Amino acid sequence: MANMASGDVDFSKYKVENLKKYLSDRGIQLSDRGKGKRRAELLELCQNAAEMKQQKLEEVVESFDRVLEEKLQTNEGLLPNPDTLRSWSHNFASIPEFTFADLYSYLVGKDDYSVENLRSFKSLHGYKLFHDGHVEDLQCCRLENKPFSYFQFKVKPAERAKTEDGQSTYNGFFILKSSAEVHAAYCPCKGGSDGACKHVTAALFDLQSMVSSNLTNTCTSEKCLWKRRNRNSDYAIRLEDLNIVKAEFGKEEKLHLKPYHFDPRSTLTNSSTLKEKLRQGLKQVCPDAVALQFLPSSSGLDIPEASVAEYIACDANVEHHETVYPMYIYTMKEYADVFKSEKNIAKDFCCNDELVEEFIDFLNLDQTQCDTICAKTVQQGGSQFWIDQRTGRITASNFYKICHLKDTTDKTNTIKLLMNYCPMKNVPEPLEWGHRKEISAAKLYFKKLNHKHCDLLLKESGLVVNPLWPFLGASPDRVQYCKCHPKTLVEIKGLFSKRNLLPAVAAADKLIKTTNGYQLKVETTWYYQIQGQMAITGVKHTALVIYTNKGILIVPVEFDPVFWLTILKKLQLFFVGHLAPELLTGRVLKDVKN
Ligand SMILES: [Zn+2]
Ligand SMILES: [Zn+2]
Repeated sequence: MANMASGDVDFSKYKVENLKKYLSDRGIQLSDRGKGKRRAELLELCQNAAEMKQQKLEEVVESFDRVLEEKLQTNEGLLPNPDTLRSWSHNFASIPEFTFADLYSYLVGKDDYSVENLRSFKSLHGYKLFHDGHVEDLQCCRLENKPFSYFQFKVKPAERAKTEDGQSTYNGFFILKSSAEVHAAYCPCKGGSDGACKHVTAALFDLQSMVSSNLTNTCTSEKCLWKRRNRNSDYAIRLEDLNIVKAEFGKEEKLHLKPYHFDPRSTLTNSSTLKEKLRQGLKQVCPDAVALQFLPSSSGLDIPEASVAEYIACDANVEHHETVYPMYIYTMKEYADVFKSEKNIAKDFCCNDELVEEFIDFLNLDQTQCDTICAKTVQQGGSQFWIDQRTGRITASNFYKICHLKDTTDKTNTIKLLMNYCPMKNVPEPLEWGHRKEISAAKLYFKKLNHKHCDLLLKESGLVVNPLWPFLGASPDRVQYCKCHPKTLVEIKGLFSKRNLLPAVAAADKLIKTTNGYQLKVETTWYYQIQGQMAITGVKHTALVIYTNKGILIVPVEFDPVFWLTILKKLQLFFVGHLAPELLTGRVLKDVKN
C-alpha cells in the first residue's frame, strides 16, 4: 500500500468489485451496497478517497495504536492505556498545579502556536472553545505508582453539531507530569494526533482556569471539583437595559434607539398596506370610482425575496467592505502569565527590579482597549469582568492608603486587598445604605443644578484605565456634561455613621470653611481619590457631593497637577515594589493558602 499515501493510484484497471472493496475498506458506505452506482461513479469516489488520503480502516487502527504507544512512552517505561483506567473523577484536589506557563511552553512552537499568537491567546480557536463552554467534560485520574496524571476531555465541535466522524464530542486525553509539564496529548480529530489541536488547547485552558480560580478562592473551603463552564458570553438582560453604544470614554451620550422602538408586529394592519388593498379591490370591482384618484397608487416594484437574496450574495454588488477586528481584553494576571511564559521564568523564581521594569514595559494597553474596559464596566458594574479588571491594579479609592504606608508596615494585607484574595461575600450595612443613597443623592444633585446648566447630563462611568499608567484605575461615580461648562466628575460620598446630621456637620473634619462655601482638606482619603480620578480620566474638575439623610452638600475640587505627581511617584513605587512582584510570583497568595 505504499502508493496509497501518494494519492495517485491508477484505478482505471480496477474491477467494479475491487473499487467497492477499496471504498468499504476505508469505511465509505455505499447505499444498496453500490448496486445502483455506475463504474464511473465508483471510480470517482475511489479517486476522491485516495486524494483525501483516506486510510484503510485497519491501517487507521494500526496508526492509532502506533500514535498511542508513542504518547505513552516515558523514560520509566510505557504508561498504561487511558482506556484501561477506571478511577476517573471530577475531583481535582491533588493534581499538579497546572499554570498558564505550562500550557504556554507545551504549545509554543507547535502548529500555529507562535510567541505572537500566544501573546494574544484570547484570539486562539482553542481559547474561544473553552471560553464559550465547549468543554463538556474533563476528568482526571492519578496513576498509583507513577508520577503522572491523566485527563480525559469531551469537547463539542466549534461550528457543526457533530464531529468529523459523527460523534457529538471529540473525546481525547492528555497526560501531565508531576511537575505539571504536559507529557502528551491526543485528540481524535483530523490533525489531533500531534496533540496541539484546538480541542486539546480548549481542554488545557479549562484545566488552567480551574486550577487558577481554585488557587484564588482563598476564603472558601470548596472542594476542587471540575464544573462545566457557563457560557458567560450570553446572559439575559432586560430589553430597556440593552445599550448599543460604541465604546468611548467621556463621549456625550446620545439618545439611543432601543429595540422596543421597533414594532415587530405584522405589517398587515399597517395603514398603507390597507390603502393599497382597498385600491386594488376597488379597481377590480369599480374601475371608475372617483376614490381611486385619491388613493395613493403602489410605489416601487415588488421584488421577490429570492432575487434580493441572490443580489446580496453576489460579490460584484458589494459596495463597501468593512473588516471588524475583535477586541480582546486581558487582566493584569493574564499579562503577568504571558510575560512569565515568554521569559521562560521558573515557577519559584525570585523577583528583581529589572524584571519588574520589563514587566511594566510589557503592560501595553492602547486607548481602544482602555475605552473597551470602560464601556464594558459601565454596563456590568460589579460583574466578574469588572472585578477581574480591578484585580492587580491600584484603584483611586486606595491611593491615600498606599501613599501613607510606612516602610516598616507589612504590605501583605494591602496586597491581599488589591489582588482581591479575600472577596467580600455579603455587603455590609453601610455599603448597602451607600448604594441606595448614591442614586438619590445623584438625583438631588441633578435637580439642584439642572436650571444652572444647558442640557445637563449625568452619566455613569465604568472603570477608567489610562494607557500612561495601565496599573492604575479609577471609577468616578458620575461624569457630568453640559453645553456651558467643561466636563466634570461627580464623586458622591455618604457618611453612614453620621447619617442623621447635616452633611456639612457630618463631614466637618474633612472640610475647611471658606468665605463662599467649603473646601476639601488635602490630607483626606477623598482628596487623594478625587485627584487620582481626575488625573486618570483627564478631567480637570470634580463636584464632591456629600450626603446624609438630611440632604446633600456640593464641594468643588480642582485638579492639582503638582500634587498628583507626588502621589503618582508613591503609587509607582508601591506597584514596582509590591504589587507587580505579587502578580508575577503569587507569593502572598501561596502564604494565604497555607
Ligand atoms: Zn481535536
Ligand atoms: Zn454647564
